[in-house]
Amino acid sequence: MLELRNVNAFYGKIHILHDLNLRVESGEIITLIGANGAGKSTTLMSICGIVPPRTGQILFQGQAIEQLAPNKIVALGMSQVPEGRHIFPRLTVAENLELGAFLRQDKKKIRQDLDQCYALFPILAERRQQPGGNLSGGEQQMLAICRALMARPQLLLLDEPSMGLAPLITKQIFAIIRKINQENGTTILLVEQNAKLALQTADRGYVLENGRIILHDQADNLLKNQDIQKAYLGI
Ligand code: ATP
Repeated sequence: MLELRNVNAFYGKIHILHDLNLRVESGEIITLIGANGAGKSTTLMSICGIVPPRTGQILFQGQAIEQLAPNKIVALGMSQVPEGRHIFPRLTVAENLELGAFLRQDKKKIRQDLDQCYALFPILAERRQQPGGNLSGGEQQMLAICRALMARPQLLLLDEPSMGLAPLITKQIFAIIRKINQENGTTILLVEQNAKLALQTADRGYVLENGRIILHDQADNLLKNQDIQKAYLGI
C-alpha cells in the first residue's frame, strides 16, 4: 500500500528525517512511535505532500507520489487526520463532513458514507446542525476522523488521536479505529505518543528516534522488548 525509500526531509536547512524506510501492507494497522520531536508528524506530512521529501521515494499503491501536491494525493485514496484535529469551528458538523467529500462526485455513496459515520459515532448525528467548535475535544476528534473517512481513503493517516483526551474517550476512539480497519478494510498508519495503546492496536510498529527508524517489528514483540518498555512504556 505504502512504501518510503530512503526519505530525507528538511525544514529549511534543518535535516529532520534521515533515510527513512517504512512499509505498510494493505489491510494493516501500522504505528509509528517516538518521543516528542522525533519526527513522527513530519513523516506523515512528507507522505501526504505537505513537507515533500528532499530526497528519497514514496510509493502509494506502486505509484511515486513524492512530487505530487496534497490534493492529488488525497484523490489517489489517502487521507490524513491531523494533529490537533483542525476541524472548521464555525461550520456545522454536517458541513465539516461534506467538505471531507469535496473531491467526490458520487452523491449516493457520499450519502451512505455519511450515514456510516453517524452510525460509528451517534453523537455526531445528534449534533449534526451544531457548529464544530461547540463540540468537546473527543467529539472533535471523532469529527476529524469522519471527515477524513468521507474521502473514502484506502489509507488513513492518524496523527496523535489520543492527544488531550480523557482515557475513556481515547479507548472509545481506538476501538472505532480498529473497527474502521476491520469492517471497511481501511489500512491505517497511526502516529501516537501513547506507545502502549498504539502497540496494542497495531499489527506492526516502527520506532523513530531523532528522525531515524531505530527498530521495527511485530507490535507484540515491541511490547515485550525491554528497551522499548523502559524508553516508551514506563515499565
Ligand atoms: P510531537 O509528538 O511533539 O508532535 P513529532 O515526533 O511529531 O513530535 P515533529 O513535529 O515531526 O515531531 O518535529 C520534528 C522536529 O522538527 C522537531 O525538532 C521540531 O521542532 C521540528 N519542526 C517541526 N515543525 C517545524 C517547522 N515548521 N519548522 C522548523 N522545525 C520544525
